[in-house]
Amino acid sequence: MVLDTLGTPVPLNPSQQTLLRRRFFPPLVLLKSLNDVGSSGDRRETDAPPHAHQRPEEKFQTFLNKLAQMCDYRPKGGTITACAAIQQESKVLYIFASNDRGKPELKRVRNDVLSVLGILRSNIIDPQKQQDDVLNTVLLEKILSLNNVRVRGYLNSLDKNIQLCIAACERENPSSQIDVQGTLYQLQVMIPQVVLTGQKSNAFARSVGRLINAIQEYRDSPVKDVIGRCAAADKEHNVVCWSEFQHAVGRLVAYQYIVETLISAHHIWAGTDLFRNFDVDFLPSSNPHPWPFKTKPTAETAEEIIGRVTGQGQLISKCREHASKLQVFDLDGMIREEWEGSFNPCVHAEVLLLDWLQNTEGGIQPHRFFNNWRYIGTSKPLCRLCHYYFGIVAPFIGVRPTHNNIYYPWRIPDVYLAPNEQEQSTRDKKWSDVMNQMKFRVCEEVIHLLEEKDGYKKPHDSNTTTDRIGMTDDVLSGMLTRLSLLGRR
Ligand SMILES: [Zn+2]
Repeated sequence: MVLDTLGTPVPLNPSQQTLLRRRFFPPLVLLKSLNDVGSSGDRRETDAPPHAHQRPEEKFQTFLNKLAQMCDYRPKGGTITACAAIQQESKVLYIFASNDRGKPELKRVRNDVLSVLGILRSNIIDPQKQQDDVLNTVLLEKILSLNNVRVRGYLNSLDKNIQLCIAACERENPSSQIDVQGTLYQLQVMIPQVVLTGQKSNAFARSVGRLINAIQEYRDSPVKDVIGRCAAADKEHNVVCWSEFQHAVGRLVAYQYIVETLISAHHIWAGTDLFRNFDVDFLPSSNPHPWPFKTKPTAETAEEIIGRVTGQGQLISKCREHASKLQVFDLDGMIREEWEGSFNPCVHAEVLLLDWLQNTEGGIQPHRFFNNWRYIGTSKPLCRLCHYYFGIVAPFIGVRPTHNNIYYPWRIPDVYLAPNEQEQSTRDKKWSDVMNQMKFRVCEEVIHLLEEKDGYKKPHDSNTTTDRIGMTDDVLSGMLTRLSLLGRR
């Protein structure tokens, strides 16, 4: 079922609001801007296939991550999901949370998870077991169907970028590129046309399944390395098609990895409650809070913000010096742009799940978790703020590493209404302690980045067009010629 919240949230008091508006978010905006100086954008995750040499506990962690990933149906972050396996007396309770999903949707996703785990359970208790390849097809089609919105996005991107890659091959040196072009053509014809109509059907899932098989074959061939090198040279040539192609095929093949992991897990833990006696509950998503700068719409400058990141006068002067050199990147303009945006901070799924564990019977004691494995799986690596939060609040709980990106729609869990005043002030104090430590970590990183990025050089302005497709030197044709040779060995 979808559980109730842990209590009645108490609105933030004026001093808590001031802490956020004056001491936490301004350095965070500066940190995000510094992070973006000289960077090419978000770091993208890559999925590796499950491998046999993981320890049992690591395999279990991968299993929870993939289960969460299976539930992350849509792009843009709202469906990012976290998951833990709680050992109860007679069953395992899979407990899930998502960043921003309404109750009706949470109920639907819960049924979807039960249905996928039910297929695995039947395969364990049914005397007539299905072969893994049959099970693979059934699960892959089901999971692709559930994720069809996200999958359609990847197919659109693949379709667009494959055309650009083929065009780039043709322009460069048609006679020597037959292998790469051939592979790209083969994949192109397999992209289901149903993508254009947005139809959700079994036929759609089946054809995406076939495309994923073809992608796996391509990834086992030498063409993959050549395209990898082309992608690495994208920036140099002011194109993005090769890396976008790589990203799209990587995201599609990730669904196959989910299925492989689930099948492997149901073999490993066939005799346990994990697949025999289980239930699934979802926590309600948090209510988004208003963007704290709505009431203070004039952005501060880097110089002003730096005045509050540390109490040490000398350090402030040094930091301001670094920041003034970074104005060549229009640091203040970057800050202004972020500040004037409108974000609604919410509690990220993994933090929500941790908060529920900490505030329910048994807390985060090892015995509460399946096999004493204290782990919260997530559909994505942790953002930088969640990484800080776990480090401060629950360093013993295993989570995925951070991708270091910063998202403003982030806040810590609500303070709940306490039975008496004394308890309320203890809860308020705890909130402030955590936020002060979070602020400290952010400020520490601001100081570090100011120093690190001081020496960055601004790239030439003439070289910043991103929509140009042509390749201006012979790097690509050299790579492709080498591939032709490799292909003919
Ligand atoms: Zn996060």
